[in-house]
Amino acid sequence: MTQALLELKEIRRSYSQGETSTEVLHGISLKIYPGELTAIIGPSGSGKSTLMNIIGCLDKPSSGSYEVGGRSTSGMTPDELASLRRDFFGFIFQRYHLLGHLNAEENVQVPAVYSGMSKEERLKRSVKLLERLGLGDRVTHNPSQLSGGQQQRVSIARALMNGGQIILADEPTGALDTKSGEEVMKILQELNAQGHTVILVTHDPRIAAHARRVITIRDGNIVSDVQNAQTGNETFLNIKKEATEIKRSAQTTSEPSFKFKAAAFFERLREAAVMALRSMASNRMRTLLTMLGIIIGIMAVVMVVALARGASDNIIANISSMGTNTISVMPGERMGDVRSNKVRTLKVSDLKALQGQPFVDSASPVVQSSVLLRRYNLENNATAYGVNSEYFRVYGMELAKGRMFSERESGDNSQVCVIDDTTAKNMFKGEDPLGKRLLLNDLPLTVIGVLTDKELAFRRPDALYVYTPYSTLMHRLASIDYLSTVIVRIAPGFSTAVAESSLIALLKARHGRKDFFVQSSDTIMKSINEATSTFTLLISAIAVISLIVGGIGVMNIMLVSVTERTREIGIRMAVGARRADIMSQFLIESVCVCITGGLMGVVMSLLAGKLITVLVPAVPLSFSGWSVAAAVLTSSMIGMIFGFMPARNASRLDPIEALARE
Ligand code: ADP
Ligand code: MG
Repeated sequence: MTQALLELKEIRRSYSQGETSTEVLHGISLKIYPGELTAIIGPSGSGKSTLMNIIGCLDKPSSGSYEVGGRSTSGMTPDELASLRRDFFGFIFQRYHLLGHLNAEENVQVPAVYSGMSKEERLKRSVKLLERLGLGDRVTHNPSQLSGGQQQRVSIARALMNGGQIILADEPTGALDTKSGEEVMKILQELNAQGHTVILVTHDPRIAAHARRVITIRDGNIVSDVQNAQTGNETFLNIKKEATEIKRSAQTTSEPSFKFKAAAFFERLREAAVMALRSMASNRMRTLLTMLGIIIGIMAVVMVVALARGASDNIIANISSMGTNTISVMPGERMGDVRSNKVRTLKVSDLKALQGQPFVDSASPVVQSSVLLRRYNLENNATAYGVNSEYFRVYGMELAKGRMFSERESGDNSQVCVIDDTTAKNMFKGEDPLGKRLLLNDLPLTVIGVLTDKELAFRRPDALYVYTPYSTLMHRLASIDYLSTVIVRIAPGFSTAVAESSLIALLKARHGRKDFFVQSSDTIMKSINEATSTFTLLISAIAVISLIVGGIGVMNIMLVSVTERTREIGIRMAVGARRADIMSQFLIESVCVCITGGLMGVVMSLLAGKLITVLVPAVPLSFSGWSVAAAVLTSSMIGMIFGFMPARNASRLDPIEALARE
């Protein structure tokens, strides 16, 4: 006698509902031999499906032992049970249990996705199986486009996809008309003749009559187990060979090679990604609304980073235009000190003292006053800067025409001036200003130079600026005896830090106290960087909050999606999906949702950036590849984090309960 392929000993199964527990199977002992065609028959509610689910490793007995190919299933992990379902059993259900959003050939392929078959092989095999079952012209039809009998044949093809040595059919004809039912039975008999072990559950004695062995169960007990006389043993030899093969493969858990496993793993991931994209596409509106939080969050981050970068780039460009080795000395305690205009201790004598220091290459005074410009009937308010001949060089200002006033002119109250491009345009209207007279507060000055239209640091682009010798401004234009700024260009060979401290020491000694402050391009740069990073930090905090809110939205929808697709999860588990497969399917879906949202956010912020540059050119924007990459990375992380809980819930579902869900 051959050894049993499946062996159940004293199997009991009870369901507990609240306090009470009802036993449905009362100690079933049963051996199934390779190559058998067994019918399990009994009235409705007798426990046939419960028994079948235990045989198919979808359900676990409450007590008793069950061996598949000589291996006990009691200590097996969910994944080991999944591997038995995947590789040895092929399920056929009364209600077909096809996945509605997949066509016939894709439905047939599902078990092979989990067993790691390559795409081409999968496609070839599924089409071949469907052709063999007479569905060659229906491979790309969806289940809804197929009749009941055709759907059941698709599900038979699915059961055979990974071999299906043991076919378990629970009322396979129950939902079919007599003719389709007969066809299905014929197929099962043919499969049995080819060596498949078939176990069939039915309540219909006419169907059971097709089987060689008929087991009758009633109220959870086997009441009879008979061999039908008319059946022959024509396939016995074939069967014996097959049986030993099954036993061998069930017993030797030979590890597939790492390369194969890795390839199969990526294949499954790819398949999960395809599924995810499909499910997103079939629920477009919902997906879009789910992504909205992510889109807005990512857009905010990318835009704000671009703004911050744009602004600081702009300021830094301005600062570097004035040269990097200068120190400005200003009255007051710090930048923005409101009392600084009352401090009038910075004098021309300080300037002279500074000019005598070794660390000073040149020192330039700045006196500032607002003036009224007049020329014939043209009148304009302007800012006049009293400076010396070094000033333009220190600030890197360039003359478009004419010349700068000389060293001598700066000190001897000469009535000359250099005007900027805006002043030239406003006061001379196209005439050449060189050599012409301009009235500043009624004092006539001769224009000797015109600046280029290069934009300068801390100058408003539409304002008028006139530069005169500082002595002229202090003594003739206004009566000012103090300087508003002294700009020192550090001599080569001296570091900014050394120059700065020597300068402070010198002026402190001269004034008796520190009633001034200094600003080197270094310190300006440093304070801008500090301001930008504070700003960025603040915005990042807001962005993180909005992304968390978006993530919670994604989690919510994923939980809904898991609930909606519980039956799908059950089907996938029944055909052999591991917990990790289900988990990765939902994780990938949530990551796909988030990455798509992230990319849409990036694209939209780039578009918004374009729009802003067109509408308000003054707003500087600087998008960086890094912020885009970070946005995409962040959104995929959000997908992972917020998709985890729903995905884990899905993977922990009980296959039987999941299948029963509508
Ligand atoms: P059959 O397939 O023979 O019609 P089942 O195996 O489906 O019978 O059910 C056998 C008995 O177990 C029935 O009385 C049914 O009500 C009960 N039963 C089945 N599934 C559950 C469950 N999940 N919880 C509680 N009782 C169940
Ligand atoms: Mg049933």
